Amino acid sequence: MNAINTQTQKALVVLGGSALGVVLAGFVKHKGSIAMLPKGSKTNIKATNNFSYSELEFYDTIPPEYMANATKLLENLQVIRDALNAPITIISGYRSAARNAAVGGKDRSLHLQAAAADITVKGFTSTQVYEAVSKLIKDGKVYNGGLGVYNDFVHYDVRGEHTGHKQGSRWDERTQPVR
Ligand SMILES: [Zn+2]
Repeated sequence: MNAINTQTQKALVVLGGSALGVVLAGFVKHKGSIAMLPKGSKTNIKATNNFSYSELEFYDTIPPEYMANATKLLENLQVIRDALNAPITIISGYRSAARNAAVGGKDRSLHLQAAAADITVKGFTSTQVYEAVSKLIKDGKVYNGGLGVYNDFVHYDVRGEHTGHKQGSRWDERTQPVR
């Protein structure tokens, strides 16, 4: 049994690391008891230069019908990573419906379709990441999906007709002074 009962759980994840393949630590906050997905249950296939599908899988394996969303998502994260020239940590990726309910996610969350990632970028504040990704979208380099900024992370997703959502959504959930 791999249940962890701490309020704040530290999850070690292998990330879209640097060119040297550095493994960084990510911290994921969850409430209640959650079993981590064992390595053997993850989709350990490389999607891009720096990302593998397993980086979207913390607690649930991506179902086959959502792999195309995951590919599109990771391809765009790769563009962001290359543009910022900094490692990206995915702190939340794919969530099954049960998992999404457990963490209080929205019913229509793009995380349910493996189409969304909550990210941090080494050396950048969430505001800086949000602004940089906004510009990449404006310049036509990154897909214009959904983009939201929070105090400590940025949510990016590849929403569109295929996910049942309108493209180009933006939101700001920062509650602390902008930094
Ligand atoms: Zn999110």
